[in-house]
Amino acid sequence: MDCDVIIIGGGPAGLTASIYAARAGKKVLLFEGNRVGGTMAKLKKIANYPGSISENGEELSARMFSQALSFGVTLVSEFVLKIVRSGDGFTVTSGEKTYHAKYVVYCGGIARKSLPAEKQFSGSGVSYCAVCDGAFFKGKDVAVIGDGEAAVFDVKYLLGLCKTVYFIHSYGEKVDGAVDVSGSVEAFVGEGTLSGVKVGGEVIPVEGAFVAMGASADSLIKGLALSDGLIVADGCKTNIDGFFVAGDCIKGSMRQIVSACYEGALAASLCK
Ligand SMILES: Cc1cc2nc3c(=O)[nH]c(=O)nc-3n(C[C@H](O)[C@H](O)[C@H](O)COP(=O)(O)OP(=O)(O)OC[C@H]3O[C@@H](n4cnc5c(N)ncnc54)[C@H](O)[C@@H]3O)c2cc1C
Repeated sequence: MDCDVIIIGGGPAGLTASIYAARAGKKVLLFEGNRVGGTMAKLKKIANYPGSISENGEELSARMFSQALSFGVTLVSEFVLKIVRSGDGFTVTSGEKTYHAKYVVYCGGIARKSLPAEKQFSGSGVSYCAVCDGAFFKGKDVAVIGDGEAAVFDVKYLLGLCKTVYFIHSYGEKVDGAVDVSGSVEAFVGEGTLSGVKVGGEVIPVEGAFVAMGASADSLIKGLALSDGLIVADGCKTNIDGFFVAGDCIKGSMRQIVSACYEGALAASLCK
């Protein structure tokens, strides 16, 4: 699908960027692989957002989101896995679908750190796409790691293919048919190929593990300048033309909702 601007991340930075880009007449796709509102949606009380002495994060998120929808923003509830420069813009991949846009605004928040030994088993048992790789694990025991809609989607998809699906998550809904495991992954284990996932000191024997927690910014697009895992930007411009950033993912960001909103608006104004 073609559009003018792809915004990655539906926290306050991404929601504001969507509102400003859509109001400027751009066709906007907003990708959010987890919960719209991002970190903000989890906050019970926000006391420093101008105009409100006590704001509930979930409610503020819902208002920002409905404002974005009212200007014609389209939500894609998927994690973006890869971005490649192509033609006069970017090709963005999520699951098995690809999208093209002239500009990308990345608002993915603080990059998650790789899980222990994750990179070692990537392609040898660890996957990021159930739709792409699920068939390799037909009839086998697998795990899905992550919270939110993307993880639930992967669990449901794999239940139709695999013998046992362990759903390892820290909050959120249970899925009928899956083995619910509450906790965090301590390590991936195996000799060459994956044979298990360690949670709470116990190894769960699986041949495949699907990580549904998003990707770190540097693994999304080649050549992006980072420092300490955060994106180096000058007024929301990165070292890649047409690839802008906003919010907590920026090196030196104030890491506040109000600064994320400002940077979202600024990044959107660069998409022209
Ligand atoms: C405990 C706590 C309390 C806080 N209290 C306050 C406060 O009182 N006031 C205040 O102003 N700030 C507060 N903050 C900070 C504030 O929440 C953040 O600064 C703000 O949410 C950052 O917004 P963001 O849009 O940059 O990132 P986030 O809110 O982190 O949103 C990023 C979004 O991007 C999504 N994403 C990431 N990668 C991908 C991908 N590849 N594809 C699709 N989606 C992706 C994530 O799922 C996430 O929803 C607090 C933070 C914490 C942790």
